[in-house]
Amino acid sequence: MTEPKKLDPKDITEPINILIVGVGGQGVIMVSKVLAQICQNLGYQVKQSEVHGMAKRGGVVFSHVRFGTQVWSPTIPVGKVDVLIALEWAEGLRWMNYLRPDSGVFIADTKRIVPPFACRSRVLGADIGYSKDTPADIREKVAEAFALDATEMATKAGNERAANTLLLGALSTTLTFPTEEWRNVIAKMVPPKTIDVNLAVFDQGRNWIERSRHGEPVEGGAFVPLVQPEVSRERTELVITPEWCKGCDICVKMCPEHCLILNKDQIVELAEPEKCTGCHICEWLCPDFAISLNPITQEVSL
Ligand code: SF4
Ligand code: SF4
Repeated sequence: MTEPKKLDPKDITEPINILIVGVGGQGVIMVSKVLAQICQNLGYQVKQSEVHGMAKRGGVVFSHVRFGTQVWSPTIPVGKVDVLIALEWAEGLRWMNYLRPDSGVFIADTKRIVPPFACRSRVLGADIGYSKDTPADIREKVAEAFALDATEMATKAGNERAANTLLLGALSTTLTFPTEEWRNVIAKMVPPKTIDVNLAVFDQGRNWIERSRHGEPVEGGAFVPLVQPEVSRERTELVITPEWCKGCDICVKMCPEHCLILNKDQIVELAEPEKCTGCHICEWLCPDFAISLNPITQEVSL
């Protein structure tokens, strides 16, 4: 197989364009900040623009990063993105038309965060308004595409929130920047106690792309059918990770059954478990992944 050409700002007069997309809470801005910092460290002009601020699940977040010997505009025109990094599957699909048709590289986490408004009905087995496209469906539409279950891989490595760093590892394979530069900047930007896991998943992301480019078998590329758990009082288990809860009150306010409260330490608690229907609203809205629902004993494939 021919080794794909890596992007090097020294080789081209136009800026290199990287678009990072996802939803609130996934760490899109951290990815773009790491990239922008590396570009600065290496002496390139870099411009970054972003839209964020939706402190809830489902809120769109994206960041344009452009770098090279000279960069005028901070935003990337449609059809000019060299690499599209998607931290959420449907967001990746939504921005695909920004890729260069002949050479754009699409790298997406297959993680799906279904926004609450996509849940059209709380009836058992109700259809979810979320893209049904799979990696196989998009393969022909882009020059090069990678779909990996970065969130699951990061979870197995010890920190679900490091999925964005795993995708930084994937992104790093498309550029000529020295690996040590990536690792140094990441180590400075992540919380000190998560440096080890972040550097481990960075390497994992690099290896995953490089191995799959060489046709070697890789784990973590599975794309399972989207399923909607059946609502069941008896089978629902709501799990709270107190150290991730910042007490923002979103879940408490939005729970249709009013069964959540903030305790005296401003951490969420399930005060009335018997009322919880397992509707997932709190899980989908929490910007900090502090609530998860494990209610599934029977699933309905969509
Ligand atoms: S899953 Fe339970 S606690 Fe969460 S919003 Fe639904 S009813 Fe409320
Ligand atoms: S679990 Fe905590 S951080 Fe998450 S929405 Fe509820 S109050 Fe906010």
